[in-house]
Amino acid sequence: MSEVKKRLPIKEGLFKPPGNGDEGYLVGSRCKACGVYFHPKRVVCANCYGEDLEEVALSRRGKITTYTIARTSYPMTPVTAPFITAQVELPEKIRVLSLMTGVDLDKVKIGMEVELCFWKTGEDEKGNEVVAYAFRPIPT
Ligand SMILES: [Zn+2]
Repeated sequence: MSEVKKRLPIKEGLFKPPGNGDEGYLVGSRCKACGVYFHPKRVVCANCYGEDLEEVALSRRGKITTYTIARTSYPMTPVTAPFITAQVELPEKIRVLSLMTGVDLDKVKIGMEVELCFWKTGEDEKGNEVVAYAFRPIPT
């Protein structure tokens, strides 16, 4: 009997990994009182302190508003330096911090249009794929 391997998020609650024909998305929340979006999701609105928030799938595309290039790796993480961390503004008017992938260090630009993607960071003890999210340039 073989077990079905799953794709698991590296951190629960931040995003839904792709699977079952679904592309995967960042999980955010939207305040039903004032309409403001958040990522990561919240239980209390930081804008109006309302407590009626709904979980939403955030847009998969956005634009880089700023970025930084790290030249040193963090210990105990699957990302090796040099790497780019970007702040990506989504159409929901929120900014998400994310690893950038698929772009050279000297090609990344503020205003660049990017899309959400997922990458395998490793496997857990059951052989399930552990994935994290990143953004990459939209192919032209
Ligand atoms: Zn609110």
